[in-house]
Amino acid sequence: ESDKILAKFESLIDEKNLQNVVAASKTGCFGFCAKGPIVKIFPDDVFYVQVKIEDAEEIIDQHIVNNQVVKRLLFEDPISKQRIPTQHEIPFYKNQKRIALRNCGLINPEKIEEYIATGGYQALGRAVAEMTPEEVIEEMKRSGLRGRGGAGFPTGKKWEFGRSYKSDEKFVICNADEGDPGAFMDRSILEGDSHSVLEGMALAGYAIGANKGYVYIRAEYPLAVERLKIAIKQAHDAGVLGKNILGSGFDFEIDIRLGAGAFVCGEETALINSIQGKRGEPHTKPPFPAQSGLWDKPTVVNNVETLANVPIVMLKGADWFNTIGSKTSKGTKVFALAGQINNVGLVEVPMGTTLREIIYDTGGGIKGNLDFKAAQTGGPSGGCIPKQFLDTPIDYESLASIGSMMGSGGMIIMSEKDCMVNIAKFYLEFTVEESCGRCVPCRIGTKRLHEILSSITEGRGTEADLAELQSLAKVITDTALCGLGQTAPNPVLSTLKYFMDEYEAHVKEKR
Ligand code: SF4
Repeated sequence: ESDKILAKFESLIDEKNLQNVVAASKTGCFGFCAKGPIVKIFPDDVFYVQVKIEDAEEIIDQHIVNNQVVKRLLFEDPISKQRIPTQHEIPFYKNQKRIALRNCGLINPEKIEEYIATGGYQALGRAVAEMTPEEVIEEMKRSGLRGRGGAGFPTGKKWEFGRSYKSDEKFVICNADEGDPGAFMDRSILEGDSHSVLEGMALAGYAIGANKGYVYIRAEYPLAVERLKIAIKQAHDAGVLGKNILGSGFDFEIDIRLGAGAFVCGEETALINSIQGKRGEPHTKPPFPAQSGLWDKPTVVNNVETLANVPIVMLKGADWFNTIGSKTSKGTKVFALAGQINNVGLVEVPMGTTLREIIYDTGGGIKGNLDFKAAQTGGPSGGCIPKQFLDTPIDYESLASIGSMMGSGGMIIMSEKDCMVNIAKFYLEFTVEESCGRCVPCRIGTKRLHEILSSITEGRGTEADLAELQSLAKVITDTALCGLGQTAPNPVLSTLKYFMDEYEAHVKEKR
């Protein structure tokens, strides 16, 4: 639909001879999925929502030619019923701080010159010309940037490990194997701003002493793959990728590897096996990839959102980045808001923002004015956060302390009408399906957890089943080989902890 709207604008501009007045251009996603397709007028910041092909002529005639806003296409505030003219006044955007998403909805991702115009590739240019790899690593360490893929490991430290191992060959991998149900942060960044990820990878390569990088991306993201390919070619042509980058003597090449969509391939050791053409199965750590990764060489694996942060951190400096976020978690986090929430979409907020602010200020509250019941963060590895934690500032530590995790950024909102036992069952279904089958606790254990949950939701559950859920979940957590299995019981454990009444109600119903 958006492509057709763009084509309509282009033909109207030609028809009306407005080529010297206005140009139509595509951008990446604005993140406001609930209100797309979106047309934004620059530099006015006027933001038209749910635009249809037949609206294009009115926008051209009224806004571009007569300089009058088309009121009926502006966002309507659901409470005041007022139409809001500019993007930055819309509540969905007001509390956001877009760092990783800074160029999504701003630049044409297929034009490197637009990325360069925003300061793109300056950080790389400065690093290779003026800084030693150690200085780059030091800046990243001081910034406090932590991995956005889930575990939150400090990026600078990971690079330092990668640099410390001596080898004739090293690698950088961008993990774009985003697989959490409902999550699309990485896809959006790659579709809207591939160059920032490439620049982040090149900076990582320079820092650790690698000359080769791979983007491991699922084949189900064809537009992201296409834009990556375009960006890689443009970066080569511009001399910011390939041999002798910007005359510095530093070489860095990037290739794309397509994943077949197995969730476990998001786990770094499984991902490395997959790139090598082996089965996508994890292995135990240590050795960590920074010591022995791709083809047993030192390899740094960073996720898309982490890498998109890197150039801007290097450009604006660690001190700037340090001013954003919470004490232990610096910067921002992108969340994919989904479920029973009015403003479904992608949001980026400073670390330390409360769940209440995300759900009610940015997310516009619960659909149908229902009561909030829980938020599931961290996808199938995370947990359900109940109402009493609405005012908890969200960062890596606080989420872990209440039984969930940051994960890559999926955030599914549940209302008073959702059954939490069913939610736990849904996530278990997912992990049973996605278990690679290598170790018994995960292969058999998650299946058994799912069987128990099914019997409870189907009215066949007993109190003994509740006890078995608890103990089996603990055994799986303690004994599964990789992160997928170790965290798979989290949705069960968190719902047992906070919503035991719902489990008991199912069990009593049966009697
Ligand atoms: Fe495979 Fe699950 Fe074991 Fe991980 S925990 S190795 S996904 S079976």
